[in-house]
Amino acid sequence: MSMRFRFAPSPTGHLHIGGARTALFNWLLARKHDGVFLLRIEDTDRARSKAEHEAQVLRDMAWMGLDWDEGPSTGGEYGPYRQSERQGRYDTYIARMLDEGTAYRCTCSKERLTQVREAAQAKGEKPKYDRHCRNLNLGPDCGDHVVRFKAPLDGETVVKDLVKGDVTFRNEELDDLIIQRTDGSPTYNFVVVIDDHEMKVTHVVRGDDHLNNTPKQQLLYEALGLPVPAFGHLPIILGDDGGKMSKRHGSTSVGAYRENGFLPEALFNYLTRVGWACGDMEHFTAEEAIAARLAGEASPGRCGGGPRFSGRCSAFPSSAAGSRSTGALSTSATCSTGASRSRALPGCLHPSTRSTRSARCRCSARTCTSCCHACRTMALAIGYTETAGNSRGEAPRLSPPSPWRS
Ligand code: GLU
Repeated sequence: MSMRFRFAPSPTGHLHIGGARTALFNWLLARKHDGVFLLRIEDTDRARSKAEHEAQVLRDMAWMGLDWDEGPSTGGEYGPYRQSERQGRYDTYIARMLDEGTAYRCTCSKERLTQVREAAQAKGEKPKYDRHCRNLNLGPDCGDHVVRFKAPLDGETVVKDLVKGDVTFRNEELDDLIIQRTDGSPTYNFVVVIDDHEMKVTHVVRGDDHLNNTPKQQLLYEALGLPVPAFGHLPIILGDDGGKMSKRHGSTSVGAYRENGFLPEALFNYLTRVGWACGDMEHFTAEEAIAARLAGEASPGRCGGGPRFSGRCSAFPSSAAGSRSTGALSTSATCSTGASRSRALPGCLHPSTRSTRSARCRCSARTCTSCCHACRTMALAIGYTETAGNSRGEAPRLSPPSPWRS
């Protein structure tokens, strides 16, 4: 069976560059392995999900050149690919879990749950449901209720992460999570399991902000007797102050980069290299990136391409890298510089670059990186600093933010 990857955006806003990078990594993996890349719209949050956001996400992905094999507009064997259209499937699985005793109805009121939470906090404990209804065997006529997962009370859950290695969670830390709300709508951790299973996803690759969800999902797979897919959690993109990339660091949406005149190739190339590098190679066309990228779970840390890409690279940084994208930007130049050193660059403003020294920026094709507005702005937006050029015509240099220098 072919490898199947997915991108599962929630259409509650624009396509964030972090989400675009998740989509890109999955797309590259799918293309590299001759697999399938599917798009699933996670719109269970009815209040915040909007058709116009979904349209924007699809447009932004298409603009970046990320096409999908299966999805809401494209169709496919395992659709529908919009969660709001899959309620019947979720109901079937909930009924099965209630039947098999791996889930239970809970009628605890909000007030009671607040009291339980406050009591735990007062004792300095982690706020958790006290499992009051777990063994009451409440039936369908119990009145307003949620459905909770009967999580194991002891033991450990080990997530075998393709990026981080084994990550162990103590089951007693996990809650009896709600899988269906009072209004009958299912919750994220549950639907994602059902959909990934039904859509035959073999590899779940996403940001490591989802890592804490993974043991819960893994236990749900096990409770349902379903095979567990492979998981890989990518370090998320951080701003130069180590915080989650947000507006205060610059533009965060793909749409904003497009509107500001960035070329899709520039964004594609840049995001390809955030969290990954391949020797000194700094510019990738989509085809090269596919060839070079992510040799696969068997050999994290190495380029997967042919002889051209023989250097050691930081694909899938090890757990030692923590949640920082340390590997990505450890070389001194920024995005999109080509490999054509010592080549005259007639469009460049910097004589030294023009004659011998620097590398050509493929985005504007005829300049060095510093002269390329798109690359320069992008680099500065994510925290690169620029040292001034000089009167001898040497180009200004862009250097990565200090937390990224290894
Ligand atoms: N819908 C989730 C999000 O937008 C992604 C869920 C997942 O990848 O499992 O963050």
